[in-house]
Amino acid sequence: MTSNRPVAFVREKMIERTMKMLEKNNMTAYYAPTVADAQALVKQLVPKGASVACGGSMSLEEAGIMEILRSGDYTFFDRQGVTGDAVGDVLRKAFFADCYLTSCNAVTEQGELFNVDGNANRVAAMCFGPESVICVVGYNKIVPDLQAAQERLETIAAPANAVRLERKTPCTTTGRCENCHSPERICCTTVVHRQQRVAGRIKVILVGEELGY
Ligand code: SF4
Repeated sequence: MTSNRPVAFVREKMIERTMKMLEKNNMTAYYAPTVADAQALVKQLVPKGASVACGGSMSLEEAGIMEILRSGDYTFFDRQGVTGDAVGDVLRKAFFADCYLTSCNAVTEQGELFNVDGNANRVAAMCFGPESVICVVGYNKIVPDLQAAQERLETIAAPANAVRLERKTPCTTTGRCENCHSPERICCTTVVHRQQRVAGRIKVILVGEELGY
């Protein structure tokens, strides 16, 4: 993880600091310089034949992880194309998957995972259920602390996701969080993962490329 380029050097040091604190919090941290490295790590960490599920994530799409999950090598509880009552069934199955994959809204340099959900299925599965949780996170989501994570959520992540999901919320007009009471609000449950009891259950792959928002 060395480079002569000053900006790359600063970025790599930030990633190193974050990895060290994630490990201190009983999570296993990996560095993937490219999305191709992240894909190889996911294949290594998820044995063929395992059951898998995931949270909706632009990072997983952009990193090519969704393609891996849909490759046929796994039993994938996929919600794509599922409608009506069947959606709830697919989301509940995720709690019994061998492995749950997601990104994070932010990862702090203190080794914390910061996530905010609408119906909370993603953060719930991260907390309990699947024996293995893999977070694939671009370096652009690393922030110094939880205050910066909240700011990131309100100024980038949540408004951008609301636009992507075509929600009728004020942020899709103003481009920033208005702490709405809209029925379509996507920011309903905030979860912070700090030190974990089960060492290594949560694995965090920090990618040296920008992913998601
Ligand atoms: S709380 Fe409402 S306005 Fe704020 S980001 Fe979430 S959906 Fe948008």
